[in-house]
Amino acid sequence: MGEEQFRAGGDRSRLRAMAYDPNNVFARIIRGEIPCKKVYEDEHTLAFHDINPQAPTHILVIPKGPYVSMDDFSAKASEAEIAAFVRAIGKVAREAGAAETGYRILANHGRDAHQEVPHLHVHIFAGRDLGRMIGKAPA
Ligand code: 5GP
Repeated sequence: MGEEQFRAGGDRSRLRAMAYDPNNVFARIIRGEIPCKKVYEDEHTLAFHDINPQAPTHILVIPKGPYVSMDDFSAKASEAEIAAFVRAIGKVAREAGAAETGYRILANHGRDAHQEVPHLHVHIFAGRDLGRMIGKAPA
């Protein structure tokens, strides 16, 4: 189960029920099977630079647990995991120098949000004027 299924159209409810794919790219990064440019790690959380940055600072923060997206993380994660994740996002942004001038956090869930990797990740964008809110839908 992977990207193709995540992109597939049709039944929206299937996204909510989708099982976690332990071979997704971020699971492999957590296991050390593929490298990343790590910026932060604790018991529950890992943060690393995005491979295809969309801003001068573009960092991904992920929980180490097997959560497809914010949808099941918010429903199933422990208090400790949630606390660690939120604290890590703030810490990573501050340590990147982004708290001074501003940053944007973003987490995609599912098809309409164009989520590509089916493991929860929060993007931190910073280092330039990021414009206002979200882009227009494709024509
Ligand atoms: P999504 O669209 O799912 O919210 O974002 C997935 C993000 O993961 C993209 O910004 C993409 O560049 C990033 N990404 C995909 N594969 C890798 C990888 O192997 N390493 C890193 N560091 N980032 C990746």
